[in-house]
Amino acid sequence: MEFIDSHVHLADPAFDTDRDAAVERARQSGASALVCIGESLDAARRSRELAVRFPGVCYHTAGVHPHDAAAFDRACDLDAIREEVAHGAVAIGECGLDYHYDHSPRELQRLAFGEQLALAAELRRPVVVHTREAEDDTRAMVEEAGRSGVLGVLHCYTGSAALAEAALAVGWFVSFSGIVTFKRWTADDVVRLVPDDRLLIESDAPYLAPVPHRGKRNEPAWVALTAARVAIARSNEPATIAALTAANARTLFGLA
Ligand SMILES: [Zn+2]
Ligand SMILES: [Zn+2]
Repeated sequence: MEFIDSHVHLADPAFDTDRDAAVERARQSGASALVCIGESLDAARRSRELAVRFPGVCYHTAGVHPHDAAAFDRACDLDAIREEVAHGAVAIGECGLDYHYDHSPRELQRLAFGEQLALAAELRRPVVVHTREAEDDTRAMVEEAGRSGVLGVLHCYTGSAALAEAALAVGWFVSFSGIVTFKRWTADDVVRLVPDDRLLIESDAPYLAPVPHRGKRNEPAWVALTAARVAIARSNEPATIAALTAANARTLFGLA
């Protein structure tokens, strides 16, 4: 099985003791590439170091997470993201809206997200979007970005069929994490509505370890379990799901 982990926080301190070994285990399990998410400028810089250390395997992104939107500094942060893109960042994000935790005021979340979408349009880079309990605003902003030519992915998707369909309609991708392996997951219909050429899979490690590792620190090697569960939902073979999602990740992020 060959897969790509389209969303992993490998720069997270949770990997401080075995980061390189986690990359090696992922490779052994079939990962051909890992998209290392810079959910802050600091995480982006550390993810860039991984891209340098594992060329052709690790790639990095740069953005400001909605949790931290209150501290978003327009001039400074947009320049820093630009700088990361100049240094090979394959996408902007993760950014988006999270009205579940509301760690930042919603108005500031929309502001930071909007600025990052505008930067994506300017730099012609895809966007990695986090959305939780913010469907109406996410839909409006994704549709507007899509109309201006921005492509992106709704990552770790747990939202409605309607929001997924709206994103798909403007050319976007939808990514599923280990949550699809949890007992409480009942949205196989949403997994099925994503066309073969728009589907991605991810670990979101160190969070959301798939069954039977649930509760442990997650790692990219275990994306194979998510591929297997997505395959069941779509009545397909795990290796086929792994291969087509890998091809989609290469397309969206422009990986070699
Ligand atoms: Zn997220
Ligand atoms: Zn994430």
